[in-house]
Amino acid sequence: MQFIDLKAQYQALKSEIDANIQSVLDSAQFIGGSYVKELETQLAAFVGRRHCITCANGTDALQIAFMIAGIGEGDAVFCPDMTFISSTEPAKMLGAASIFCDITPDTYNLAPASLERQIRAVLAEGRLIPKAVIAVDILGNPCDYDAIAPICEQYGLTLIEDAAQSFGASYKARKACSFGHIATTSFFPAKPLGCYGDGGAVFTDDDEADNLCRSICVHGKGPGGKYDNVRIGMNSRLDHLQAAILLPKLKALREYELDARQTVAERYNAAFAGKLVTPFVAEGYTSAWAQYALLARDGTQRDKIVAHLTEKGIPNMIYYPTPQHALPVFQKEPAYGETFKNANDYCARTFSLPMHPYLTEEEQQTVINAVLEAL
Ligand SMILES: *Cc1c(COP(=O)(O)O)cnc(C)c1O
Repeated sequence: MQFIDLKAQYQALKSEIDANIQSVLDSAQFIGGSYVKELETQLAAFVGRRHCITCANGTDALQIAFMIAGIGEGDAVFCPDMTFISSTEPAKMLGAASIFCDITPDTYNLAPASLERQIRAVLAEGRLIPKAVIAVDILGNPCDYDAIAPICEQYGLTLIEDAAQSFGASYKARKACSFGHIATTSFFPAKPLGCYGDGGAVFTDDDEADNLCRSICVHGKGPGGKYDNVRIGMNSRLDHLQAAILLPKLKALREYELDARQTVAERYNAAFAGKLVTPFVAEGYTSAWAQYALLARDGTQRDKIVAHLTEKGIPNMIYYPTPQHALPVFQKEPAYGETFKNANDYCARTFSLPMHPYLTEEEQQTVINAVLEAL
């Protein structure tokens, strides 16, 4: 059994993927190319944005977003404590401070009340300039944008959606990647829409941000092309081969994979209701189910379940064992007295089970039985 079964997905899509790969090989166009253009058009249409710009990976996409937002030395970037380091790592590289906020106890996403407390604390201290909020749709479930967007507006902050885990999710009929001034995603193989290497994308409705993004991605190119460099940029692009692979995968995601993930999640929910804390997806939200995470009673019970699963050969993961504020690299970031109660609690109790659209009912029953045995 696989935690995420990319082999089963490839078998299902083999003829289309192989044909696309072959046509890239025949064209001998490896950088840029028609599949990249076609993919950007389809991605923008799918999420409901005016512009999609593909790039080399999800971390680059975030760095580009931070560069568009003009983030640098002396700026504060606000971020949920429960995420992957990529959410603020590029902002740190640009000289900003990562200001972590607690998560909500039910969705595990950025808690609007903690965000507002941290913004006020930064303003009261007067040392850093609040610049941007990076809202992470953790585990595939979108953030509470109706609460977060007005806070960003009130304090004049750029809202960036980190949709690396939530491609395909939706909130009140709007798709993930459509929130904030800029949204970013990742096509790392294990994400809901993954390629066969690294890839990422930036989304925006703002024409100026689109132009700036396309310049940053190509060494800060100017109107005269790539040897007319007008700013310091990056070298960040999605390969033609990766775009060729992503097109049939996007079609499968749209046509049946999201539904299949939902079915798997519902079966787990039914099996574990009342026994463990099952994921909470509020009314009006659809998760992309990048991960299926449960909370045990406490850390001791979690460790016992995980040990039993491992002993039975059932793949399992912990997303994430350590909240951002407790990582060695962020020990010196200002916390302004925030205790990160919910993030600490979540990290101690969480564990994730195999979750992908090709998980059979039989395989899933094996996982469920093993978890119930451990209880
Ligand atoms: C995976 C991930 C990223 C980074 O994506 P890469 O393509 O691996 O660089 C950023 N943010 C979150 C929340 C992620 O899970």
